[in-house]
Amino acid sequence: MIAQELSITDIIRKQRDFFKTGQTKDIHFRLEQLKTLKQVVTENKEAIINALKADLKKPEFESYATEIGTLLEIDHAIKHIKTWTKPQKAPVSLQLFPGSAKIYPEPLGVVLIIAPWNYPFQLIILPLLGAIAAGNCAILKPSELAPHTSRLLSQMMEKYFEPAYIAVIEGGVQTSQQLLAEKFDHIFFTGGTAVGKIVMEAAAKNLTPVTLELGGKSPCIVDSDIHLEHTARRITWGKFLNAGQTCIAPDYILVDKKIKQNLLNEIQKRLQEFYGNNPAKSSDYARIIHQKHFDRLVSFLKNGEIRIGGETNPSDLYIAPTVVDNVSLTDSVMQEEIFGPILPVIEYTDITEAIALINSKPKPLALYLFSNNKNLQQRVLQETSSGGVCINDTVMQYAVSSLPFGGVGDSGIGKYHGKFSFDTFSHYKSVLHNPFWLDLKWRYAPYKGKLPLLKRLIG
Ligand code: NAD
Repeated sequence: MIAQELSITDIIRKQRDFFKTGQTKDIHFRLEQLKTLKQVVTENKEAIINALKADLKKPEFESYATEIGTLLEIDHAIKHIKTWTKPQKAPVSLQLFPGSAKIYPEPLGVVLIIAPWNYPFQLIILPLLGAIAAGNCAILKPSELAPHTSRLLSQMMEKYFEPAYIAVIEGGVQTSQQLLAEKFDHIFFTGGTAVGKIVMEAAAKNLTPVTLELGGKSPCIVDSDIHLEHTARRITWGKFLNAGQTCIAPDYILVDKKIKQNLLNEIQKRLQEFYGNNPAKSSDYARIIHQKHFDRLVSFLKNGEIRIGGETNPSDLYIAPTVVDNVSLTDSVMQEEIFGPILPVIEYTDITEAIALINSKPKPLALYLFSNNKNLQQRVLQETSSGGVCINDTVMQYAVSSLPFGGVGDSGIGKYHGKFSFDTFSHYKSVLHNPFWLDLKWRYAPYKGKLPLLKRLIG
């Protein structure tokens, strides 16, 4: 049966029936499905790369590193699933003697995964891998703005999995809203903050728990105590990867006034090194996903003064890697998440100003700090809040499986990657086991004469 031929309600019903059989709870079943998921990626690399090229003109290297690279996370889950699924012993206080306690991870049931278009393959596969490892059935809704990847995902999942276990529902906002009207056991949403609110509102009607992986303006502080060339190279890479359409790309730079000009010169050199004289001709530079986003980004170019780049080509949805100076905090480029290849640079004379600016905005998904100064590093860590922090690099924190990935405040709710993905799609069931061989009477009525003992136990 093909998922697209069934109604949403039918698919959910089939998945509920399949979940009830208990098959997904079996660890061997989960392991087999993870191996199948690995096959989905390994056997279709070329098709994945082509779909990403058609949607975003994504360079093959970037597709490999950031989308096919999910293979590393699948391998990690395959390696650890037996440990993750084991019930964990929990200590029990003496008052509860002779009881023993354990925590059992159990699957949630049927989950919904909604993805955006910027890493349209990876942002479906990574949450799906968590859902499979934790023993759930899943419905996947890829982004309509990356239609080639969406189609491919639908074809691949249909080929490798039964829709009663994993199904792809393609479509746009309306389809997403139809899905959100249904009851799920968890909704994992990646996308913008505004849509995140819509998802949470819909989920609340069914008391469905949510993970919201959202966006925001991730600041990048550049102190004067740095290795200038490495700093510029790492910022340029993280910002212009996927043409800036990365949720954790540095959104804007806050630079110590003393080194601003040097940093700008160095970024220019790195851009030349990466993409040559004309990035429009470079096969290593992606395009904007859609006319609507292109127009939104072009409108930002009216803000401030363009110091590097600024060229655009609507017929190709091309926007050159661009650095802008002298923006005002009230400009739209500083009010909205940029999510494109435009990098505003704001100078500060004292780090206190930079920290105050960051704290005046909603909590970001990522915060970057370039500085060798340990005291400054500590100060920024202590005085700001963000989903994650990366010191002296950009974006690479995403690749560390042992670090939870997620936002805080407006940048999201919940976390995943590595074991955290398994946790997100599991319920941790508490189990206290009391044996029959001893039945101490101190807690039972009649209470007469037992209060002094209780007072001694509680203190
Ligand atoms: P989006 O919020 O517009 O769309 C995401 C998904 O939601 C799509 O599948 C879309 O069909 C659906 N959707 C859109 N409008 C909807 C509505 N009104 N009701 C129900 N569903 C709706 O996001 P996008 O433009 O695809 O992606 C860009 C945003 O995603 C940026 O803000 C970026 O920071 C964020 N993002 C976050 C992460 C992360 O891991 N935290 C990763 C990638 C992107």
